[in-house]
Amino acid sequence: MKAVLDHVGIAVGDIDAALAFYRDALGLEIEAPENVAAQRVRAHVVPVGESAIELLEATAPDSPIAKFLQKRGPGLHHITLRVDDIGAALTHLRDRGVKLIDEQPRPGAQSALVAFIHPSAAHGVLVELTQAVPRATALQPERYRLGELSLVTLHDGLFRLDGGAMFGVVPRTLWSAQSPPDDRNRIQLATRPLLVEAGWGRLLIDCGIGDKMDAKQRDIYAIDRQHDLDQALATEGLSAADIDLVLATHLHFDHFGGATVRRDGRIEPRFARARYLIRRGEWHEATHPHDRNRASYVADDFVPLESAGVLDLFDGDQVVRPGVRVVRTGGHCPQHQIVFVESAGQTAVFTADLIPTVAHIRDAWIMGYDLYPIDTLAFKKQFIRKAIDREYLVFFEHDPLVAAGYIRERNGRRFVDQVL
Ligand SMILES: [Zn+2]
Ligand SMILES: [Zn+2]
Repeated sequence: MKAVLDHVGIAVGDIDAALAFYRDALGLEIEAPENVAAQRVRAHVVPVGESAIELLEATAPDSPIAKFLQKRGPGLHHITLRVDDIGAALTHLRDRGVKLIDEQPRPGAQSALVAFIHPSAAHGVLVELTQAVPRATALQPERYRLGELSLVTLHDGLFRLDGGAMFGVVPRTLWSAQSPPDDRNRIQLATRPLLVEAGWGRLLIDCGIGDKMDAKQRDIYAIDRQHDLDQALATEGLSAADIDLVLATHLHFDHFGGATVRRDGRIEPRFARARYLIRRGEWHEATHPHDRNRASYVADDFVPLESAGVLDLFDGDQVVRPGVRVVRTGGHCPQHQIVFVESAGQTAVFTADLIPTVAHIRDAWIMGYDLYPIDTLAFKKQFIRKAIDREYLVFFEHDPLVAAGYIRERNGRRFVDQVL
């Protein structure tokens, strides 16, 4: 069993006194506190390298932390070990006669799966196991009403990319605490197309990675399609044939691989009735690749759309359908665009590779893949400021755990208030 120390939880009676030590005396940085309502506890996370210390403060007299303090006073409450497969870890322990508190994993904070081992088995310490990416639970399609429109966050499974490439100049010691890498230095990512349902039809923004890759590519990118877009649509009572329009943020394979399928040796549009809306500049980029972007564009994902006559190229920023507006960001690639969905004074934004995961809400956390990172930075800075001030509901296409949320700022620290 492979496990990494995720965090150490310390029950604290007097939070100000504790901060005086951990923050002021030790000089450690403390994140904005997080309320875990179900546990009646407030957690103050102190990042220390790849792990963290969690100062746990009770928020009600019947909180488990309050009871712990009464019985044993302040001190070490638990340690948390992160494992790749929590189900397998529990089976492994059970087979060895280890006394467990939780026989089955259960949902914990930040949609992780957790399970506790009995302190008597761990020589007096409460040990929590956690699995960062619960496969099915975090990928459940969810529906959100935005004024006149209905938004459904879908998914086309999971994949992995090199952690260093995903965070550019950010040192590994910092990003690995947010996105733990596997033994090939890859981090877990999701592909989450967004469906917009309106009076005028059903529009899908991006369409996942698809299933045209060969075994070698599937291994390189750790493609996991145990749950794919067809299943996600089926959960909503829909199929590929119900999609009227497919809109591309850009044509990289992890966003548009799902646009076509291989059937009887031929490659065809995946959405039989759909028109495909693509920015003309991006079409030009994708069909004229150079050495720096060649690996990102796969001609089979988009060229067959042209021969099938289902392509609608458009120029410039515009409202593509009532309530759906595209805005070019550049940066990641020259024609990369994000999608504003607006109705009844509310705004949701599908940010694609501008803010691919929650960890990327920091201005300078920019992918190494970006062709023009300084352009990304300029656009991102002004966009995130607006997103915070105007409460945009922000969609994170590649985040394995959080489909959408509000970016907020407290004491100069940014965090995401998860909605979906
Ligand atoms: Zn991309
Ligand atoms: Zn991407």
